[in-house]
Amino acid sequence: MNKIFDTAIVGGGVAGTSLLFTLAKYTDINNIILFEKYDEVSQLNSNPKANSQTLHVGDIETNYTYEKAQIVKRASSMVSNYIHNFGEVNKIGFIRDKMVLAVGEDEIEQLKERYEEFKTLYPYLELWDEKKLQKLEPKLLKGRKEPILAMGATGQITTVDFKKLSESFAQQALDTDKNIQMRYNEEVTKIERNSDNSYTITTDTTSFQAKSVVVNAGSYSLLFAQDMGYGKDLAILPIGGSFFFTKEKLLDRKVYTMQNPKLPFAAIHADPDMTQNWNTRFGPTAFALPKLERYHELHIRDLVHALNIDKDATEVYLNLFRDSTIRKYILRNMLEELPLIGKEVFVHDAQKVIPSLKASDIEYADGYGGMRPQIVDKKNHELLLGEAKLEEDGIIFNMTPSPGATSSLSIAMQDTIEICKHLGKKFDEKRHREEIESLKSPRVLNPSAVKEEITV
Ligand SMILES: Cc1cc2nc3c(=O)[nH]c(=O)nc-3n(C[C@H](O)[C@H](O)[C@H](O)COP(=O)(O)OP(=O)(O)OC[C@H]3O[C@@H](n4cnc5c(N)ncnc54)[C@H](O)[C@@H]3O)c2cc1C
Repeated sequence: MNKIFDTAIVGGGVAGTSLLFTLAKYTDINNIILFEKYDEVSQLNSNPKANSQTLHVGDIETNYTYEKAQIVKRASSMVSNYIHNFGEVNKIGFIRDKMVLAVGEDEIEQLKERYEEFKTLYPYLELWDEKKLQKLEPKLLKGRKEPILAMGATGQITTVDFKKLSESFAQQALDTDKNIQMRYNEEVTKIERNSDNSYTITTDTTSFQAKSVVVNAGSYSLLFAQDMGYGKDLAILPIGGSFFFTKEKLLDRKVYTMQNPKLPFAAIHADPDMTQNWNTRFGPTAFALPKLERYHELHIRDLVHALNIDKDATEVYLNLFRDSTIRKYILRNMLEELPLIGKEVFVHDAQKVIPSLKASDIEYADGYGGMRPQIVDKKNHELLLGEAKLEEDGIIFNMTPSPGATSSLSIAMQDTIEICKHLGKKFDEKRHREEIESLKSPRVLNPSAVKEEITV
């Protein structure tokens, strides 16, 4: 076996596998190794039980500015193009309606303004008034006192199984004629730089060498970076997210609510869940949890390392707590996790979407939810939102809180360009542009999907 790899990838979530795919398919890099500590890809945050299964396009996410929405639209389109071009519609990515709901006169006014501003960027968006909503989703109106208006979309890929997407990326990479090694059940324990600028990657069983390394290990990426002397000014605030199921399916569409600018991505939403026969799933909640993986044992040493608590980190947390909106939100979300009263508290939030919902209609989604590794910038005393990256001399560390799954192919493209520069290899921009950055129709790039479509 060739043990000197061109690139080693640590982590087989959607971030690691999208990079594997991009390197294998669109570069002349020949030897790539991927390490995943569990026995299959996407067992943590990229699993459909951990996240909201949403392709965040920026059209109904009201926390984005127009400029940010342009970037998000481009990044997310790579995932939807992949799903269309590789014949994975209704297998990995699902075309289902979605909307953002404005409740009360103030939100309605804001939503109308937003529609005017964003309709050129997203020409398919429509305003749905109460009459239309009564036909589409009558539960949104039953028992409601305030007026509502929605901005919705039809005919778009809105829902993605990011685990199946990871499996498809890995398979596409394995189907190339490159030397691709997938090392499952192999945990990377150390990464060291050698004097010849290559890297030694030590795992729990052996060690390998690579000329470049990309660490896509979720919450653990920062720990690897700090072990190597990078990102000392950063810390991780692990934020857990839980969900509640309704006992009966109540909605056919994704229903998001208007975001509070102080709490981006905190607004409640209801999503038809692909793992539960499209039953309605509300959430996620958001609460600080002393864990790096939601449903696996706690490694105190890793946690202490990630929290990186000192005067500066404490200052960031105290600042958050001083803001009354954030303080109330944190306390409320903690209550929502409590066994008996949790759903009594949560149902008040969920009533913004379905006013007639009762606590007895919902149940805590056991086994669902994940951990968002929010990055704390200790130097600037800030909680960073969105993805963060550290890179130096052929090694890249990615930290990917929400909506990292949506941005996976875009982040993979940026990393591919950097890795190619470092190794003196070529990125086939033209082919990537045709197959990932644009929608190809009607030719499908996945021959097995064609076979299936013909035989169905
Ligand atoms: C509640 C919640 C809802 C979300 N909803 C959405 C959404 O709707 N849409 C969206 O786009 N994003 C969403 N996100 C964010 C999204 O889930 C993540 O951004 C994305 O899954 C991150 O992918 P990843 O590959 O970086 O991380 P992960 O999927 O966590 O993968 C990291 C991998 O690294 C492996 N690993 C870790 N350490 C090692 C090691 N030492 N050796 C070997 N392997 C290792 C792990 O086993 C794991 O497989 C949500 C997140 C949460 C928590």
